[in-house]
Amino acid sequence: MKIPFIDILRYEKNFCETVTEKTAALLKNGHFIGGPVIAEFDNSIKAYTQTQFALGCANGTDAIQVALRAAGVEKNDKVIIPDMTFWATFEAVVNVGAVPYTLDVSKETLHVTAHGMKEAIEKFNPKAAIIVHLYGWAVPETVEIRKLCKEKGVILIEDCAQAVGVKINGESLFTNAYVATTSYYPAKVLGASGDAGGIFTTDANVAAVAQKLLNHGRTSHYEHGYIGWNSRIGAYEANFMVEALKHLDARLDSRRNVCKQYREKIKNPQLKFLGPASHVAENGYLSVALMTPESRPAFIEYLKANDIGYGTVYPGAMSEQPGAKGHLGGKISHGHADWIAKSVINLPCFAYMTQAEIDYVVETVNQYK
Ligand SMILES: *Cc1c(COP(=O)(O)O)cnc(C)c1O
Repeated sequence: MKIPFIDILRYEKNFCETVTEKTAALLKNGHFIGGPVIAEFDNSIKAYTQTQFALGCANGTDAIQVALRAAGVEKNDKVIIPDMTFWATFEAVVNVGAVPYTLDVSKETLHVTAHGMKEAIEKFNPKAAIIVHLYGWAVPETVEIRKLCKEKGVILIEDCAQAVGVKINGESLFTNAYVATTSYYPAKVLGASGDAGGIFTTDANVAAVAQKLLNHGRTSHYEHGYIGWNSRIGAYEANFMVEALKHLDARLDSRRNVCKQYREKIKNPQLKFLGPASHVAENGYLSVALMTPESRPAFIEYLKANDIGYGTVYPGAMSEQPGAKGHLGGKISHGHADWIAKSVINLPCFAYMTQAEIDYVVETVNQYK
């Protein structure tokens, strides 16, 4: 058996037919930018995430940039970001002219802590902070960090690129986020058929400014109140995702089931499976296990030899990336992000993985010595 790390082509029955039919309608009505399907998607994702304002944009990286600017981050402002995230978080800060400061993550939860955030705020006196909810979980101390940032007057942006469908204390992670962003990159839990992203907020003013920023700073058709971007979401992507969203709960259930089975059935002492905090409900984006920098390389060779795909999300700390040189303002590092990067292993996990495929992965990993 050959099992890919991810297979994004396992659609529901009739999914492709419905998308194709709706695409044919788009080709006839010509609403390629803007138009009713964009509003339909914005409304559906707003309802799904239980937010007050939801805007589509071109991709998850732009979403962070627009969010930073809309929330008031300006040139040379300091922004704290986790040392363990996808590079886009770092890039977005630099691309709006602000300066990233990295904060190390916990070796246990793999996310930033409220204690660490407090230390970083006191040390760097930042204008803003970005927390990143990785692996389909949530930062365990999200509520505490929201409160802390509010008290200290620090703008908090939440990068939810991997967190659509995640709940914290039984409530959507998005509901109480001042500003959250996401990515609809095809491999995310709610993927488009190309690039797309989203901005979410509880603040009407942030929503209004973000809407203008992502459309050339337009205040009316030919009046430009801001230097913005062209970061509009296309109608094809919105169309595809309106349909995908109808199946999202089923897709997430299927993914969660994969993660759960690995945690329960894989008994190899060389892999330590991790999961979200007990008050967090995951979306099943990734299966995460920790090995050690010494044990991982041979295990990866074993997976390759047995035709099992794998991931190492993410294989490097942000502050150590070659591109960080000359841009990083400062960092708080205990070496955790670097250690996690060298120790993490992700086994295949995607919607509609079959039981036979799951069994094959479980048995193969259990047989590894
Ligand atoms: C995917 C991802 C992004 C970037 O999204 P794009 O749509 O690829 O620009 C940003 N942050 C995190 C944590 C991601 O996983």
